[in-house]
Amino acid sequence: MTSSLIDLAYLVAAALFIIGMKRLQSPATARRGNQLAAGGMLLAVVATLFLHPILTPVEMIAGLVIGGGIGLVLARRVEMTAMPELVAAFNGFGGLASALVAGAEVARYLPGPDGVTTAAVQAAPPDPLTAATAVTVVLSILIGAVTFSGSFVAFGKLKGVLSGNPVLFPGMRLLTLLLALGALGAMGVFVAGTPDFPAEVDPVVIGGLVLFGLALILGVLLVIPIGGADMPVVVALLNSYSGLAAAATGFVLDNTALIVSGALVGASGLILTNIMCEAMNRSLLNVLLGGFGGDAAAGAAGPAASAEGKTVNATTAEDAAILLSYAQKVIIVPGYGMAVAQAQHAVRELADLLAEKGVTVKYAIHPVAGRMPGHMNVLLAEANVPYDQLYEMDEINGEFDTTDVSLVIGANDVVNPAARHDTSSPIYGMPILNVDRSKTVIILKRSMRPGYSGVENELFFAPNTRMLFGDAKESITRLIAEVKAL
Ligand code: NDP
Repeated sequence: MTSSLIDLAYLVAAALFIIGMKRLQSPATARRGNQLAAGGMLLAVVATLFLHPILTPVEMIAGLVIGGGIGLVLARRVEMTAMPELVAAFNGFGGLASALVAGAEVARYLPGPDGVTTAAVQAAPPDPLTAATAVTVVLSILIGAVTFSGSFVAFGKLKGVLSGNPVLFPGMRLLTLLLALGALGAMGVFVAGTPDFPAEVDPVVIGGLVLFGLALILGVLLVIPIGGADMPVVVALLNSYSGLAAAATGFVLDNTALIVSGALVGASGLILTNIMCEAMNRSLLNVLLGGFGGDAAAGAAGPAASAEGKTVNATTAEDAAILLSYAQKVIIVPGYGMAVAQAQHAVRELADLLAEKGVTVKYAIHPVAGRMPGHMNVLLAEANVPYDQLYEMDEINGEFDTTDVSLVIGANDVVNPAARHDTSSPIYGMPILNVDRSKTVIILKRSMRPGYSGVENELFFAPNTRMLFGDAKESITRLIAEVKAL
């Protein structure tokens, strides 16, 4: 009876995960989707603890309060721009937990330090370790440990504790290959040792520990050659790995909820990785082989700088406010700089002011604007921008020809026309927002420095472009004052 109830709870939890993920597709339903999926996870955890009553109710509640409390504080405190590193840390801990739980499943067969198996094991000896279980244990240890160390290297690069530059040394790829072969060998030793286990513990224990150690080094070697710029893609991929490790542990424990949730995380992480690669026009292999983008790219720092004699038209808040106020249609293009400046609330205020003056205002959202998918949607939702004003790239790209002013706020790579025609550009082929086709483009940024890709943006030198230099929030605040004064 209890077991049927638990199966039912797992089924409901799985349905909640899937419905929750479906709702994440639209900003209007994303909040509810998150709540549904979190509710599903709570149900799965509670059902599991009833199936395996290993904790007292007080311990369960203490775990919920402490874990939930840490989550609450982190969620409230973390800056949107630091979200990729928080996700990296979550992935890392998820991978480590999977590897440890799979290892613990083997460790419980082992005698204690005094050579005696625990009373619980003596009373109810576990089933013999089958080869199938052994295979899932080693997969869990391998993927979990790679995810753990790889995620913390990604975390360090994103946080700036480690250099964002790709780290490569001679013989690195050969060393990685040798370590991978060593890990495969250790997996073989572990699995081959299971028929004689636990009478003969050495092959399994040594195989497992060597595998764990090699996988930790592999995780580091797989991520250090990748530039800090590509870390968000790596984090999405490691997210997928953490799901696979959890699913493998689900097979070890024969736990349906863990298998389903792990498979969902594994698949969605991979889909997300693919979306990000497509939006940057890069292959996953190209990202993983590394070498693209490092720490903040160098560039001309001053507003007055111009490249190869090309001139830049700088403008003032007063002139920009006139262009905006007398436009019929304005498209706002937010980018990473809006997130850095935390300008989203001011942007909304400006858009509302323009709408009051009869200007049609729309927002154009590039799939990789900012530093993570959905970055701009989340910020604009935080500022209560109505969802029906947000347009995805494919929906709005045809509208720039009939737009009076495109207001580019801290976006750079995602509006660089070189991506359309300059075959020598590293971002050639990346789909962009065609802001250059609007009558006037006003760009808000602090300097002539390039964006994430380190590539100079030819849009800054276009005759229909006006640069409004300064921090995006300060510039928008000045624009608001000028628009009000008109
Ligand atoms: P970019 O990184 O191309 O450019 C951001 C611009 O914002 C910079 O040029 C910077 O110029 C400006 N900026 C920074 N701080 C401020 C500030 N306080 N006020 C005003 N401007 C500021 O951003 P995009 O959003 O256009 O493009 C995203 C890039 O990130 C793409 O190359 C994409 O491939 C990459 N990427 C995105 C991922 C995602 O999932 N979204 C994942 C991985 C990579 P200045 O210093 O002069 O102010």
